[in-house]
Amino acid sequence: MKPRVVICGAGAAGLTAAIFAAQSGAEVTILERTDKAGKKILMSGGTRCNVLPVRMEYSDYATSSSPNRMKNVFKSWSLDRCHMWFRDEIGLEMDCETESNKWFPKSNSAKEVRDLLVKAATDAGVKIEYKKNISRLDFEDGYWRISTEDGGEICTDRVIIATGGLSVPTIGTDGKGHQVLRRTGVNHTDLFAALTPLTTKDPGLKSLAGISLNVRMSVFINRKKAAEANRSGFLFTHRGFSGPSVLDVSHYAVMQLDKNLPLPEFHVNWNGMSREEWEGLLSSEKGKVQNLVGKQLPARLAKLLCDRAGIGDENASELRKEKRKKLLKLLTEFPLPVDGHEGYRKAEVTGGGVPLERLDTSTLEVTDLPGLYLCGEILDVFGRIGGFNFYWAWVTGRLAGISAAKRPA
Ligand SMILES: Cc1cc2nc3c(=O)[nH]c(=O)nc-3n(C[C@H](O)[C@H](O)[C@H](O)COP(=O)(O)OP(=O)(O)OC[C@H]3O[C@@H](n4cnc5c(N)ncnc54)[C@H](O)[C@@H]3O)c2cc1C
Repeated sequence: MKPRVVICGAGAAGLTAAIFAAQSGAEVTILERTDKAGKKILMSGGTRCNVLPVRMEYSDYATSSSPNRMKNVFKSWSLDRCHMWFRDEIGLEMDCETESNKWFPKSNSAKEVRDLLVKAATDAGVKIEYKKNISRLDFEDGYWRISTEDGGEICTDRVIIATGGLSVPTIGTDGKGHQVLRRTGVNHTDLFAALTPLTTKDPGLKSLAGISLNVRMSVFINRKKAAEANRSGFLFTHRGFSGPSVLDVSHYAVMQLDKNLPLPEFHVNWNGMSREEWEGLLSSEKGKVQNLVGKQLPARLAKLLCDRAGIGDENASELRKEKRKKLLKLLTEFPLPVDGHEGYRKAEVTGGGVPLERLDTSTLEVTDLPGLYLCGEILDVFGRIGGFNFYWAWVTGRLAGISAAKRPA
């Protein structure tokens, strides 16, 4: 008889787990809380779905678990093999955006990605049951009893929890999986919103909404540099700041506020030019300061920075020392007046989760709970913007799926 694998959650990790478990010989059922599979895939990458990064480093990920455990998981499926699986097995044609290090579907359609994964799952014999909200997991006599809110129950000796994190709770990911796991004795670290926009009360900066540019951003906690964004995209929004450079470091603000600690300081260099380069430009070129700055930066931002340095109509040659000093600081170390963040409502992922120490990282089975496997965002690993989070979902989904199917009865 085929082993029976039940998967909770039909997101990126759950669908991948299902495909691999079914192809490894199991009879597979997915229980999905909502009426659709892969809702986050549908909304990902601005509905284009950034399926994978082109290259990855372990430093693209954050975890409070042992980094070696995380590396072990990634070693189970290289980025190249994962990419080949999408291309050759799933049938997804992809284009590479070399500059941003991202793979997107050729069609630019996240729906195509979701549909192809659902098709691969159903072709492999996977049954997806929708509107099944897992409310309880009980382990008795070597079997898992999975209870759903509609009063249903399923028993199996192998179950995979792929219920995601807490980001965008309105679409069905509100941390219910974490609650269910806690009752079985599987605890998680502190959870926090990550890759979420930052907010400001500064009306001048909010009026720049829509302007995007490439910046260099540094984060300071207690005056010590805690991080530097290694991507440059920055976007002014009606509520504050977004773009990869902001999202990648936003969790520093979230974590400080969650602990009732002062916000970090975010310093922005608006175009990567050094103080000396700006000084050279202001002393060698003729014309109004505002125009010279406006040649290097978007005009409205240039005007705001000059206004804040107290510079009106003056020519560069007339610029007083104090104003010059102030302007150079605003151009290269602008203190971003962040007052908060947009939390899980807008977060692309959840930071923290079930520590990898709780699992056998060669199978993703919980160490002292036989037959219970975890994959995806529910685990204590998240990546930067750029396809890194899906890569984690695909890798862990595959590993949990194969391991659950092949587990000796
Ligand atoms: C707006 C947005 C854009 C993003 N864009 C990208 C991108 O382009 N590239 C990238 O790499 N990452 C992106 N991400 C992150 C990526 O979507 C996640 O990392 C990934 O979806 C996590 O996969 P998962 O399967 O673990 O969780 P999810 O995809 O969240 O799936 C969890 C599933 O479990 C179901 N579920 C939850 N609770 C229960 C329950 N109690 N019972 C039954 N089912 C339940 C949910 O309904 C859901 O279907 C984006 C995220 C967001 C929010």
